Amino acid sequence: MADTELLNGRLIVTTGDITTMSTGAIVNAANSSLMGGGGVDGAIHRSGGAAIIEECKRIRQSRYPDGLPTGEAVMTTAGNMPARHVIHTVGPVWHGGGSGEAEQLSSCYRRSLEVAAELSLKDIAFPAISTGIYGYPKDKAALVAFAAVQDFLESSELPQTVYFVFYSPGDARVFLDTIG
Ligand code: ADP
Repeated sequence: MADTELLNGRLIVTTGDITTMSTGAIVNAANSSLMGGGGVDGAIHRSGGAAIIEECKRIRQSRYPDGLPTGEAVMTTAGNMPARHVIHTVGPVWHGGGSGEAEQLSSCYRRSLEVAAELSLKDIAFPAISTGIYGYPKDKAALVAFAAVQDFLESSELPQTVYFVFYSPGDARVFLDTIG
């Protein structure tokens, strides 16, 4: 499926494996332990190598002994991947929508973009946070993700370009149909 440009070309919807993106940062849908897991988290740690987990351990010891809170974001190296950094964020587990899930998911996007802007990164790639193992409905997540990025880019020059990387063309289609 061809890439789709939105928000005057500053948001690009694409399909594939986020570990291959050569952006300033790729975002990891981590869990609060920061010690790796399944899905995109597992793929990022496998591709990036041990340097990422080493840095995550140091972050846990120094800043987040009880784990990274939901909606928060921290940066590490990208290790062996072509991206420069990984921004780890913890999405909400879906509990039906009445437990602050939308605010937490929005915070994941906003905090990740803030970290990228602080690092003066030109571009950043997001997976569809929370829509796998954490069970957030894809259409509902699409609206939250799009609004959060649109809001942030309206008031920030950086990052210049945001990529939404969907693992399958079907997921990209759900996103585009939902926001369209
Ligand atoms: P969460 O626990 O936040 O739900 P998951 O990793 O289970 O995280 O899923 C988040 C999304 O990432 C899902 O839509 C899944 O299909 C997608 N995904 C899994 N592996 C990759 C990958 N290598 N690149 C991009 N997206 C991926």
